[in-house]
Amino acid sequence: MPLSTRQRITLLGSTGSIGCSTLDVVQQLGGRDRFTVAALTGHGNIELLAEQAQTFGAELAVTADEGRYQDLKDALSGTGIEVAAGPSGLQEAAAREASWVMAAIVGTAGLAPTLAAAARGADIALANKECLVSAGDLFVQAVHRGGGTLIPVDSEHSAIFQALEDDQRHAVERIVLTASGGPFRSWTRDQMAGVTVEIARAHPNWSMGLKISIGSASMFNKALEMIEAKHLFDVRPEQIEVIVHPQSIVHSMVGYRDGSVLAQLGAPDMRTAIGYALTYPDRPPLNVERLDFAKLARLDFEAPDEIRFPALRLARLALTRGGLQGAVMNAAEEIAFQAFVDGAIGFLDMAEIAELVMETMTDWAPATAMDDVFAADAAARGLAREAIARRKAA
Ligand code: NAD
Ligand code: MG
Repeated sequence: MPLSTRQRITLLGSTGSIGCSTLDVVQQLGGRDRFTVAALTGHGNIELLAEQAQTFGAELAVTADEGRYQDLKDALSGTGIEVAAGPSGLQEAAAREASWVMAAIVGTAGLAPTLAAAARGADIALANKECLVSAGDLFVQAVHRGGGTLIPVDSEHSAIFQALEDDQRHAVERIVLTASGGPFRSWTRDQMAGVTVEIARAHPNWSMGLKISIGSASMFNKALEMIEAKHLFDVRPEQIEVIVHPQSIVHSMVGYRDGSVLAQLGAPDMRTAIGYALTYPDRPPLNVERLDFAKLARLDFEAPDEIRFPALRLARLALTRGGLQGAVMNAAEEIAFQAFVDGAIGFLDMAEIAELVMETMTDWAPATAMDDVFAADAAARGLAREAIARRKAA
């Protein structure tokens, strides 16, 4: 779009790691001179949400936490910025006219508002991988039905999106997702058994929100990304490979049937993928670190270990079984993640609980409507909570 045309945008999850990076990109590309911010949403960090809304002149600010409505109202009193809260507030933010919506809420909490934005035809910049893992093809269809474009923001999927040649999709042989391997890349299972949240969240390369940081340590994040790749790029499970690449410079690759492999490289900084999603198919000038190959000197690759990181095996299971297993794995993992953060279970228990719930729900028929997804999600959460309670009692 020419620089003279103002673009209306909305950020679902503006106060998180991706949300803040998105606003940084928006600022770099012209800020209020070029963009009109229709709505911003957050959760507990009211101060930051109010500050963002004022800086960017948002029309509407929403906290997902109903109990914080008055705090947000007070923080924005006299500014003319509308305020809303709770699930209906999120729906209002999603429904407000904006041609581009950043989906950056963490977890399945982002599914309903992202679907609402998709239904009215917005282009969806998708960071919130959980909503795609959970709703799968139904989610992709919802975006297409609305008439918008689904643009991946996850660095791996942005890399693949960039390396896919539009008229050569039929010639794609494989998708190679890179994984940093996280802080426990070379740890034994015994070493991982007793780790604390503080140790697990310390990612070697990326600075991110808590859930994805823990997910990088357990490789559950990569597991979600395998399923995300299947739905985004319409490939068969056996076409999806994972390779551990500790430097996080090669963001992912597409292998073609002539043996060629196209990769996308860059510094580990989400702003490149966010900028690409915001101005696609243009490449805006961005103030991010440039790669210095002489300094890098080497790029390492190693096979992933599905025994130390069972999440990868579970993703493979979910991919081959199909149906609602993605929704089930995702929901069980969300509950297990929270239990780990709360100190109720250990690091390795997360995958065990996810597997247990997946095995209990193999006979669920594939989803034909979004209600089936919500039902499977709720059932998986219930089973995961029961499994956690049993462990605590034992
Ligand atoms: P974060 O925890 O930093 O931010 C999450 C955002 O969601 C915040 O704005 C928060 O207020 C909001 N939120 C939290 N709970 C909510 C709820 N119940 N209802 C509504 N809103 C709620 O997370 P993040 O790291 O920015 O990740 C956001 C999404 O992007 C995740 O799906 C993650 O997997 C994905 N992602 C993140 C990165 C990264 O570098 N951080 C990279 C790739 C993909
Ligand atoms: Mg990623």
